[in-house]
Amino acid sequence: MSKGRLAPLRRTAGYDRPPVRALKTLFAFTRDLRVDDHLGLAQAAQFGDVVPVLVLDPARSARLRSSPRRAAYYCAAVTALDAAIRARGGRLIVRRGPTAGTLRSLARGIGAETVAWSVRYDAKEIRADRDVQAALEESGIRVVAVHDASVVPPEDLALSHRRGDGWRAFVPYFERWRTLIPPDALPAVQFAQSEIASEALPVPADFGAREIEVGPVSPAASAQKLAAFLNGPILGYGIARNVPDAGATSDLSAELSFGTVSARSAVRGACARASDPFLLIEETTAVRLWLRALAQRDFFLQLGWYNDALDEAPLQEKMRRFAFARTHPQLDAWRSGTTGFPLVDAGIRELRATGRMHPRVRAIVASFLCFDLGVDWRVGRDEWDRLLIEDDPALATGNWQWVAGVGADLAAYPRIYNPVKQAHRFDPAAGYVRRWIPELAGLPDATIFERGERPQPQLSLPLFGARAYPAPILDHEAAARAFLARYRAEVVAV
Ligand SMILES: Cc1cc2nc3c(=O)[nH]c(=O)nc-3n(C[C@H](O)[C@H](O)[C@H](O)COP(=O)(O)OP(=O)(O)OC[C@H]3O[C@@H](n4cnc5c(N)ncnc54)[C@H](O)[C@@H]3O)c2cc1C
Repeated sequence: MSKGRLAPLRRTAGYDRPPVRALKTLFAFTRDLRVDDHLGLAQAAQFGDVVPVLVLDPARSARLRSSPRRAAYYCAAVTALDAAIRARGGRLIVRRGPTAGTLRSLARGIGAETVAWSVRYDAKEIRADRDVQAALEESGIRVVAVHDASVVPPEDLALSHRRGDGWRAFVPYFERWRTLIPPDALPAVQFAQSEIASEALPVPADFGAREIEVGPVSPAASAQKLAAFLNGPILGYGIARNVPDAGATSDLSAELSFGTVSARSAVRGACARASDPFLLIEETTAVRLWLRALAQRDFFLQLGWYNDALDEAPLQEKMRRFAFARTHPQLDAWRSGTTGFPLVDAGIRELRATGRMHPRVRAIVASFLCFDLGVDWRVGRDEWDRLLIEDDPALATGNWQWVAGVGADLAAYPRIYNPVKQAHRFDPAAGYVRRWIPELAGLPDATIFERGERPQPQLSLPLFGARAYPAPILDHEAAARAFLARYRAEVVAV
């Protein structure tokens, strides 16, 4: 981002549609579990009075079943959504079953000509949404599919790529993105009253999950969390995004992925913060870096939107031939946070304990899997998918491909992070490592940093007792060299 104040902003294309009134429009919630500042609802309302529905189809249920924390968050968000809809005169209609058939019979039941929903960005979800759209359109029902999740919709003319198939490099994308702002907050939508019966709201037990504490979940709680971040921690984001023990990043990925807060409101808030004339230059820079993070989110969403095989196939064609291993004798050590590399293990343990992992640490831990162990990025992505609260497979795929050097990254060679150097640089007082690895908590910094520097015999000093921390499972330098040699032979030399 250039120095100085933010570039002058231009308004993006809004949500204008010719007003066509029908009796009722069915709006099916997907990844947009709120009623305020809602592009999908605003567009749906132009076709008739909105009847809100939530379809729990087999794919959604299976996905929630795979991650108990995600299921807990989702159920709490749906309960809050129903309350918000009731406050606006309606009621959420919940149905369980295949999406196309359910929406078709509901639309026929209420005489709706139009069914609307917010689009999703992961390849599997895109394919599923297209199938539903085709089935409804075949039945004579108009489908309005809306980009609510991104700040700037991928198809926004002001942003669109000249080839018409999206951007594959973040830097030029961001140059364009940062000159745009989202429309003002959208007007509130009133809901139609309907007599249609609803099934019960989902609860975690439906997905085999017990009640798990995931914090306050509701649009109001999300708005408060965003406001609290914008009021203070955002000014320290420049350091916090890299140094896991230095302060807070926004921790809004779950809220943004389920849509309990709109990304547009996050950008509006950050732009307002950046325009404060009393900010120090490093504080303005921090706000801009956070806006850049939101732009990265948009970038990976559009990458998924335009590349609908991305969930399985690397974006880079040359990397489709490169075979990563599907397993490794030490894969379980990576999974359980017992590799003997403290920063890697701390990241995994944070994830297992909370459903979250600091952004910088994610890249280091993912790099360790792909390059030190040589294991396929899809293995890591799928493992984390069962542990994370957030529900954004397109962002997971985009980021995992980027780290593995097979995705939207133009670097000639993969970036292999040295987990020991990274620890020195980004966790210099070992505060993050001590928090997540109790076995190391009482040790001096120097002893912690020695860990991982070379393979050591398992320590069995009384200091460690029964809770000994493992010796490094491999020699990082040797593993990195071996990977690069293979890369050179199989990718560069071909
Ligand atoms: C290997 C790997 C896997 C990842 N998997 C996911 C995932 O499954 N879901 C997910 O939402 N993010 C993923 N990320 C991106 C990023 O790490 C998380 O969004 C971030 O850690 C969330 O913390 P935060 O909310 O405090 O983010 P902040 O740093 O406060 O950023 C604000 C928001 O911007 C967005 N954002 C920030 N960085 C990125 C990024 N690199 N790509 C896309 N969006 C970004 C997120 O929505 C985030 O909540 C992954 C990153 C890596 C390296």
